[in-house]
Formats: sequence, structure tokens, C-alpha cells
Amino acid sequence: ELLLSIESTCDETAAAVIRRDGTVLGQCIATQETLHEQFGGVVPEIAARAHLERILPVIDTAMNQANVRGEDLTAIAVADRPGLAGSLLVGVVAAKTLALAWNKPLIALNHLHAHLYACQLIDGAPDDIYPAIGLIVSGGHTSLYHCHTAIELEYLGGTIDDAAGEAFDKVAAMLSLPFPGGIEVAKLAMEGNDQAYSFPRSMIHDPGDNFSFSGLKTAVRYAIAGPGRQDFSTLEISDQVKRDVCASFEAAVVDVLVAKCRRAIKRHRNRNASSPNEPGSGTNRLIVGGGVAANLRLRRDLQAAAEKDGFELWIAPPHLCTDNAVMGAIAWKKYEADQFAPLDLDITPGLQRGF
Ligand code: ATP
Ligand code: MG
Ligand code: FE
Repeated sequence: ELLLSIESTCDETAAAVIRRDGTVLGQCIATQETLHEQFGGVVPEIAARAHLERILPVIDTAMNQANVRGEDLTAIAVADRPGLAGSLLVGVVAAKTLALAWNKPLIALNHLHAHLYACQLIDGAPDDIYPAIGLIVSGGHTSLYHCHTAIELEYLGGTIDDAAGEAFDKVAAMLSLPFPGGIEVAKLAMEGNDQAYSFPRSMIHDPGDNFSFSGLKTAVRYAIAGPGRQDFSTLEISDQVKRDVCASFEAAVVDVLVAKCRRAIKRHRNRNASSPNEPGSGTNRLIVGGGVAANLRLRRDLQAAAEKDGFELWIAPPHLCTDNAVMGAIAWKKYEADQFAPLDLDITPGLQRGF
């Protein structure tokens, strides 16, 4: 039984062919980094046009690699939410068209659920990592969920302003680092002094599950350029300052993420332990996905927290943290639950309260 998974929510065009047992037979990711580089961020219109040019070659590549034809497929899955409208539309129209042409059932995926499901794809992960507390840290989201199953997630809280990945990217832009910036900030951070600047850990003492990263971003701005408007491209910043700013910034982000996860886990562990699989039940397991989950400091500090507090931790493998179609393997869960999408499936760019 074979699944074709399609992903086009932001600026990666991706497809994968995945067997029911999780084996990936073929996959392809076309990034658009060089297209958006000169603008320092993803330009929605350019992204949509690039998806349109790439989607069929990308699907072809994955299918050829897997050596399968349309008639061999069991179902076609596509992320229909959340994301950029024009980007989502290309993937959804392609998936609907192929589902119609090949007469295959269509499955609609929540991109964020798929980011978390990447934890299930780690070698050695248990057959079912749910229930769990889920942290999504990506370019567009920073949210905590109580995941009852792979496809039933209860939103606990999330960022009230910038996402963690967005903050990484904005700091990178201020330091004139190459696009996409998050990974460049992380690289420089490894050689910097994380105590050089004392940046705010916003909401770290707040008992709820919300986050805020815009104050941190502003603090970085002031540290680099002082108050007032500045043209960062003309600012002379020494390499040592760059490294120290990156290290101190990264430490602030990671401290908040780790503290919030520890608190969420403490609150949910042993809750209703007699019926651990019922909604609202307890869990002592943390799962983490999304692009920022590739960050080494975050991985290291979460691991240390897990050992200290005694909770189970699964973080998506680094190559499945940023956008890809392999995490679309979650579609098999929907297939098993008979959750199919109609052929007039529409896109849902925005989400209410994390859904
Ligand atoms: P969303 O999933 O919320 O719709 P997205 O799909 O654009 O947003 P992802 O592809 O999951 O986001 O992740 C991209 C983000 O991850 C970017 O903001 C990028 O800077 C960040 N990122 C990638 N690698 C690292 C790293 N090593 N350290 C920190 N941030 C990173
Ligand atoms: Mg991307
Ligand atoms: Fe993503």
C-alpha cells in the first residue's frame, strides 16, 4: 500500500512516496532559497509561482525514484493548512487533480500535526508516541499542544507575537547574515559567548503556555544599533559582536522554550493516570518538531531537562525538522480513521488558536 504525500505550504515544494509501514520509497524537496534571498524573506507571489513550476517535476521525481505509477497508489495526501494561500493552493490543486485522474482517495493534512508526527519517524520510536505534550517551533508557529493521538491535538498555548523561527530569521537579517537566517545564527552562536548580552526571557515566569519573542527581537536590535531607526545593511558589526549576539539570543530563546516545556509536562504528568488514553489524561512524554527543533542547543537543553525531570523526549530527526513531505506519513493515521477529504477541498491558510 502506497501513499503519495505533497507539501507546498510555504517555500519548499516537496513530494514523497511512503509505504504503509513507513518506508520512504522516493522523495524530493525543491527549495526556493535563491529566489527569496534578495528580499530577505519569503515573497508569497514568488513562492506561489515557483511552486507552480516545480510541483509536477517534484512529484515525478519522487514517483520515479519509488518506481511507482499513479495506479499503484492507495491514496494521495496534501497539506491544506496552515500556510501561504498561493503556496497551499498549488499543492492542493495538484493533489485534487491527481486524485481525480487516478481515482484515488484524497487526504488533507494539517502541516503542524505533520511537523510533530516527524517524531514518530525516528528509528526506535515506539509504535505510538501518543499521548504526548507537543511543542511546535517553526518559522510561523511556536505552540504547545496536548496530543491525544496523532490527529487529535488540543491547543494549550502559543506565541502572542513572533514565532521562534521568525525571531531567528529577523535577528539574522539585522546581522546581514545569508538567507535563510536561522541556521546561520545557530552556526555563529556556537562560537560566541552566550553571557555577553543579557537578553529578556519573556513570559518565562508566566504560568500559562503562551510565548512572546518580539521583545527579545527588539532587545537584540537595541544591542546592535541602539534605539531609533537604523539601516542595518550599512552598520559595521564586528564578527565577535555577531557571534556573541547570536549566542546570547539563542540562549534566551532556548531557555524560554525549555522552561515552558518543563512546566507543561509537570502539569500534565500523572493527570488522570488511571485512564491514560482518554482525552484530558496525563502524559510524561514530550515530542518536538518544526524547523527550530533542528537547533543543537535546544536539543541539548531539552535532553538535559528530560533527564533531570524524568520525562520521555522525542525530537524530530534534524532532516525532518524543516519542511518536507516525508512527515506526511501521518496521512496513514487519517486513512486508518477513514478521514478522507472531498474533491472540492479548499485551502485554510490561517488557523484559529493553533488549528
Ligand atoms: P510553519 O511550519 O510554522 O508553517 P515554516 O514551514 O516556514 O513555518 P519550518 O520549515 O518548519 O517553518 O522551519 C523553518 C524555520 O526554522 C525558519 O525560521 C528557520 O530559521 C528555522 N531554523 C532552521 N534551522 C534552524 C536552526 N538550526 N536553529 C534555529 N532555527 C532554525
Ligand atoms: Mg522553508
Ligand atoms: Fe513548516
